[in-house]
Amino acid sequence: MYDFLLTPEEGKLRDEVRRFVREEVAPDFLRTLDKDEITYPRQYVENLARHKLLGLRFPKEWGGRGMSWVAEAAALEEIGCLGMALGCAFSMPSIVGEAFDKFGTDSQKEKYLRPMLEGKLVSAEALTEPRGGSDFFGATTRAVLEGDRFILNGQKRFVVGAEGADFFLVYCKTNFEPDAHKYNRISLIIVDKGPGVSVEYQYGLLGCRGGGTGRLVFRNVAVPKENCIGGLHNGALCFNQMMIPERMTSAAGCLGAWGALDVALRYSNRRAAFGKLIRHFQAVSFMLADSITQLDAARGIVYMAARAIDEKYPNVRRLVSEAKKFATKAGWDVVNNAMQVMGGIGYTDVYPIERSLRDTRLSMIWTGTSEIMNLLIQHEYFEEVLKQPYDRRLPERDAMKPDETERCFTDEDMWSIHDKAGSK
Ligand SMILES: Cc1cc2nc3c(=O)[nH]c(=O)nc-3n(C[C@H](O)[C@H](O)[C@H](O)COP(=O)(O)OP(=O)(O)OC[C@H]3O[C@@H](n4cnc5c(N)ncnc54)[C@H](O)[C@@H]3O)c2cc1C
Repeated sequence: MYDFLLTPEEGKLRDEVRRFVREEVAPDFLRTLDKDEITYPRQYVENLARHKLLGLRFPKEWGGRGMSWVAEAAALEEIGCLGMALGCAFSMPSIVGEAFDKFGTDSQKEKYLRPMLEGKLVSAEALTEPRGGSDFFGATTRAVLEGDRFILNGQKRFVVGAEGADFFLVYCKTNFEPDAHKYNRISLIIVDKGPGVSVEYQYGLLGCRGGGTGRLVFRNVAVPKENCIGGLHNGALCFNQMMIPERMTSAAGCLGAWGALDVALRYSNRRAAFGKLIRHFQAVSFMLADSITQLDAARGIVYMAARAIDEKYPNVRRLVSEAKKFATKAGWDVVNNAMQVMGGIGYTDVYPIERSLRDTRLSMIWTGTSEIMNLLIQHEYFEEVLKQPYDRRLPERDAMKPDETERCFTDEDMWSIHDKAGSK
C-alpha cells in the first residue's frame, strides 16, 4: 500500500495492523485452521478486539474508531494475507455492524454492536438459502409476526460462523401479501443462538477452513419484535447497505495476495534452473511483473471505491461492484501466477501457496458472484448514461456521416438529448 494514498492517521492504523498480522497470529494457528481442527477462530477475534481493531469505521461511542473506508481497506490489505477465514472473521463485525450503525436503535447497538466490537459477542449473517443465493429477494425463510414476537421458520446455507457465532442477522420474508413488491417483502432480524436454532450441516470446504461454515435451521424460533432492524419489511434497504461492506471487504481482502506474490518472488531469487536463477528467465520475471501490475490496478480500484464511499459519491454501488469483481479476479491471478512461478513445489504444502489458491477461489463466488457484479455494473452504468443529465461531448457526432439515415436511434434523437443537456 502506498503512503501517499493514506492520511497520517490511516497510515498509523495500517502500521498497527501490519504489526498485529506479523506478531499476533502464529503460523501454527493458520495450519490448525486449515486442518479444520478449530471450529471458529474466537480467540483471534477476541485478540483483534483487545487491540481495538474491530469495526474501525463505527463511532467511538459504540466502540469503533470513527475511521474511513480507506483506513479499513488498508487494514484489510494487511489482514488479507492471513487467508479467507481470518479475513472474514475480521470483516464480519464491519458487515453486521453496518446494519446496526445505519439502521439500529440505541438499545440494539447497546445490546449487540458494543459487545461485538469488544469481542464479547460473535456475529454472523444469514442470507443464502438452499434454493439460491444470487436471487436474494426470493428468500423463503419466514418470520410471522404474532403479537410482540416473530415466529421464525426456514433454513440458511453456507453461513460462516454458523458454528461459533452468538447471534445471526437473518433476512426473512415477513410480508405475505401476494402482490407485495419484492423490495417490500423481506425484513432483517437479529436471532440469538438458542432454542430452535440448530446447525445441521458443517461443510467440507476447498479453502476458508476453520470459519464454522454451516447450514442453519430455524424451527419455530421466537424472536422479539424489537429485534427487527430498519423497520418491518425494510430488509431490502438494509441489504443494499450491507452489500457495501460485504463486497468491499472481499475486494480489499484480496489485496492480501501480495503475500503469495512475495513468496514466489523470493523463491525465484533462490531457485536455479539451466545454470541460472529462474528470475532471470523472462517468462518468470514477466509473470511477476504481470502480478505486480494486477495488484496495483486492484489497489487503484479498491481505494477509489473506498474514497468514493467516504465522500458519499452517488454511484458508489457500481464502483463497489467493480472493485469486488476486479480485485477478486486479480487476487486469484496473482496467486495462480505465484504457483506457476514456483513449479511443482508451489502445488505442495511445503509452501502456503496452495492454501492461498484454495482460499482465493472463494472470493469470486461469495458476497455476490462475479456474474452478479456484472449485472449490477452494467445496470448502473446504463442508468447513469441514459437517465442522468449528460454534459460530455457526444463522440457520435464526429462520424463522417453524422446525419446518415441508416444510423440507429432508439428512443429519442441523440442530438435532442444532447441539446436538452445544454451542451454544444
Ligand atoms: C464458503 C462460503 C461461505 C459463505 N458465507 C456466507 C455467509 O456467511 N452468509 C451467507 O448468507 N452466504 C454465504 N455464502 C453464500 C454465497 O454468498 C453464495 O454461494 C453466492 O452468493 C452464490 O449463491 P449460490 O451458491 O446459491 O449460487 P446460485 O445463485 O445458484 O448461482 C449459480 C451460478 O449461476 C450464476 N447466476 C445466478 N443468477 C444469475 C444471473 N441472474 N445472471 C448471471 N448469472 C447468474 C451465478 O453467478 C453462479 O455462477 C457463502 C458461500 C460459501 C461457498
